Amino acid sequence: MSHNVSPRNYNITLIAGDGIGPEVSGAVVRILNAAGDAAGVKFAWEPYSAGAAAFEKHGAYIPPELYQSIERNRVALKGPVTTPVGGGFSSINVTLRKRFELYANFRPIRNLPGLESRYPGVDLVIVRENTEGEYVGLEHEVVPGVVESLKIITEKGSTRIAKFAFEYAARNRRAKIHAIHKANIMKMSDGLFLRCAREVAKGYPQIAYAEHIIDNTCMQLVMNPYQYDTLLLENLYGDIVSDLCAAFIGGLGLAPGANLGAECAIFEAVHGSAPDIAGKDLANPTALLQSSILMLRHLGEAGMADQVQGALESVYRERRFLTRDVGGSAGTSAFVDAVVAALEGGEC
Ligand code: ATP
Repeated sequence: MSHNVSPRNYNITLIAGDGIGPEVSGAVVRILNAAGDAAGVKFAWEPYSAGAAAFEKHGAYIPPELYQSIERNRVALKGPVTTPVGGGFSSINVTLRKRFELYANFRPIRNLPGLESRYPGVDLVIVRENTEGEYVGLEHEVVPGVVESLKIITEKGSTRIAKFAFEYAARNRRAKIHAIHKANIMKMSDGLFLRCAREVAKGYPQIAYAEHIIDNTCMQLVMNPYQYDTLLLENLYGDIVSDLCAAFIGGLGLAPGANLGAECAIFEAVHGSAPDIAGKDLANPTALLQSSILMLRHLGEAGMADQVQGALESVYRERRFLTRDVGGSAGTSAFVDAVVAALEGGEC
């Protein structure tokens, strides 16, 4: 891989982010460095700010050096960056996804051991198109009081995300893909998305293919998530369904994600910057840690990924150092100490 300096040294672009971002990314860096020391892997983290923090320092929401760092390293770990609501600068997340053509947003939803859930044993994969739909940001005021917002769906974008989903399913022995849509109303745009998915599905006869309407899908997910295996969604539907599915496994503090393209990958949690709990040692870094485990697998470090996953799971199984969002009373730092202790083979 081109981002390798030498086989087991990795330069990783690091965007700490806003709100709880510095806490959760600091936690992950600590855990990965500890795991790396044990495994003979070295990480050279290249920290950059983005969004409002970067504008204050560099006069740019995304400094050119950040772009260059991602271009060079091809792998980034990113905390949440706050996006102003109803005005202000464009989303940093969306800008990075577009710039690096990170067309696939991959979000596995799996319960951790030791956590009670109304939905035990969920094993779902969300594959969200990451560059099109309503997220293209083409909005304008036609006349005062009337705003037009464009949703762009292309054959190229729909086909490549469908291929990603089917390829993933084929390589990981997943049995079924549901394409999620609202083509009864958006006949042309969602209709095109479905036509592309059907066309791609023909090349994978071993994988069952079905289509569900988005509103029904939300109800069906809450009634019985086990009927789903891999969900293929447009950008906005994927965003909404991701938060819904995070609830199956204990909330946003747990759900990981990866933004993947042909050249680069940015790993980030599903959650946002959670300003309500920022700076209070309350954030759960599990979501970003699980994102970093996806990053390790992407880098070809499967053994190390298994070790970090094992340490994380042992802390959850033991339940002594869990954060408040999942029913514990430990702070972020005590949780991280426990994961590091578990990695080093000690008591957590
Ligand atoms: P965005 O629009 O940026 O996706 P959001 O509206 O989904 O953000 P978040 O910032 O993700 O909102 O957080 C929603 C709530 O979930 C927060 O108020 C917080 O209480 C909780 N939460 C999110 N992430 C975590 C975390 N890592 N640990 C603990 N609680 C969290």
